[in-house]
Amino acid sequence: MSQRGLLIVLSGPSGVGKGTVRKALFENKDTAYEYSISMTTRQMREGEVDGVDYFFRSRKEFEALITAGKMLEHAEYVGNYYGTPLDYVNKTLDEGKDVFLEIEVQGAMKVKEKMPDGIFIFLTPPDFSELKARIIGRGTDDMAVINERMVVAKSEVEMMRHYDYAVVNDKVELAVDRIKKIIESEHYKVSHVIDYYEKMLEEM
Ligand code: 5GP
Repeated sequence: MSQRGLLIVLSGPSGVGKGTVRKALFENKDTAYEYSISMTTRQMREGEVDGVDYFFRSRKEFEALITAGKMLEHAEYVGNYYGTPLDYVNKTLDEGKDVFLEIEVQGAMKVKEKMPDGIFIFLTPPDFSELKARIIGRGTDDMAVINERMVVAKSEVEMMRHYDYAVVNDKVELAVDRIKKIIESEHYKVSHVIDYYEKMLEEM
């Protein structure tokens, strides 16, 4: 009998580098967590592949899945839906594998309500000038949009109190390393293994 896997939720403010850290984590072939591919209604970017980067769906299809209760969480972010398909998460956890979500903060809070046993990791910028540089660095927005994103990012940083861990993203490799350590030690928690041992005792 194997234990149920851990649900790991990586979140944090816009522009903090969640996607980059997550990709670096999964580039390593030894990574044993299963990445839950999100669904989105946004346009596919160059180089992205449906079913790899996201499941790209129409608003109509997405809304039908919400209505059918098929999403663990969803959020509207910059005019598009983003969400986590529920069946994959449950099935993979039941198989004893860890599931990794990389999602924005509203969605993470919804996951926390539904699955409070998850491990909630908040990625933080080393400082605000760095965050601003990253938001500007995307190069596609005018100053008003940049300022608006900064206001949003600041209020998102305040969400940190709802998380279990804060990981500074000063360097991608360091952030990846910190996340791996957190997940490893979570596996040793008595709360994670107790059911397994109790079952063994019953069977003795
Ligand atoms: P992007 O459009 O740049 O790929 O992602 C925009 C934001 O959506 C990022 O902050 C990313 O973490 C978040 N995101 C990606 N997938 C999901 C999801 O399934 N649910 C939620 N709530 N946010 C997501």
